[in-house]
Amino acid sequence: MWRLIRPFLFGLLMTGLTACAVNPVTGQRELSIISADQEISLGMQNYGPAQQMQGGLYTVDPQVNSYVREVGERLSTVADRPLPYEFVVLNNSVPNAWTMPGGKIAVNRGLLTTLNNEAELAAVLGHEITHAAAGHSAQQMQRAMLLQAGVMAVAVAAGSANERYAPLAVGSAALAASALNQRYSREAELEADHYGMGYMARTGYDPYAAVTLQETFVRLSEGHNANWLEGLFASHPPSTQRVEQNRLLAQQLGVHGELDAGRFKTRMATLLRDKPAYDAYDAAVKALGEKDFKKAQGSIEQAIQTEPREPLFQGFRGLLALQQSRPSEALTDYQHALSMDAGYYQYYVGAGLAAKALNHNDQAAQYLEKSITLLPTATAHNALGELALARGDRERAVAHLRVAAQSDSAVGKQARETLLRMGVPVNAPPKG
Ligand SMILES: [Zn+2]
Repeated sequence: MWRLIRPFLFGLLMTGLTACAVNPVTGQRELSIISADQEISLGMQNYGPAQQMQGGLYTVDPQVNSYVREVGERLSTVADRPLPYEFVVLNNSVPNAWTMPGGKIAVNRGLLTTLNNEAELAAVLGHEITHAAAGHSAQQMQRAMLLQAGVMAVAVAAGSANERYAPLAVGSAALAASALNQRYSREAELEADHYGMGYMARTGYDPYAAVTLQETFVRLSEGHNANWLEGLFASHPPSTQRVEQNRLLAQQLGVHGELDAGRFKTRMATLLRDKPAYDAYDAAVKALGEKDFKKAQGSIEQAIQTEPREPLFQGFRGLLALQQSRPSEALTDYQHALSMDAGYYQYYVGAGLAAKALNHNDQAAQYLEKSITLLPTATAHNALGELALARGDRERAVAHLRVAAQSDSAVGKQARETLLRMGVPVNAPPKG
């Protein structure tokens, strides 16, 4: 972490916070403490871990991904700032979208299924493109870095309990976790709506779709759906005021454009058709949270029957088997998931834990090592530490356990206890 932060902090001291630059979107002069190159490289470094933390890529229908990319690229050609924009669809039911610095944008599957047409998708992407172009996401990342630098100076540990993803993600992924938890200011949100609608108008989309999008958000927020509250609404509070502001701006823009509802339905067909399968999966996750294994099993079987090509469902069935001490079944399910998607850390962690429970220690270590190249987690480091200990490699064991011990979670606590038993001094548990 320090390797990452030190040049940034050094730059901060050298410039004495006085560097000033013209914002390419708003045209206003503003404080800038991070160079454009740093911004882009920070985005690139954290894009992968952030995707992993948020469910990994949606893989069932690659058409959906290319469609979102096409719409995003159409908008980004008129953006006020050229950046290496990228657009991905994440396998996550929570309706959300986010941007890492440098134009690294992600949209969740759960947001796509609430949209009515391509213009509404353009409204989402135009909003996120503005966050990147106007440097909002870079400011967000700076806050995350300063926050972490502060935390480390005091506790010499990464991660804190009030970061939602930190208990799992450790080491180099902690910054991405912290950045995902930063919220934009109200001003940044308004700016993103404003310029995003301008990009829509310039590419032939109907800017009124930004109004209907907000109307949908208001309607859904009234239902108090838990998914919505933890997703987009946490950072983008919907309000009738925002609906009216967007309506006013659409009138000012004075153009009507395409909605492309037909193309949206065609290109999104798989995702829209599979919605019941994901609903069943979400019900299974909820049931597991309530320790209702029977209900979870019933729901996940239903999901698999509806969409057998979804590795997430296979992985979840593996998790159910693992939690009920059936490691052999779990390993089969996780391997099946990996045969469909070899790019998501959770399947490797699960396969590793299942193999470890079966005493296939070499195989377990391979899976777990692979998982931490995608996303370093306390779970994988703790298990790798125990495996190293089992084969008498004390040095490797301590190295892995020390990483796991950074996490303020049950598994972090377990790692600290193992280290204490080994007579290795452990830093005080990080305070959230
Ligand atoms: Zn926003």
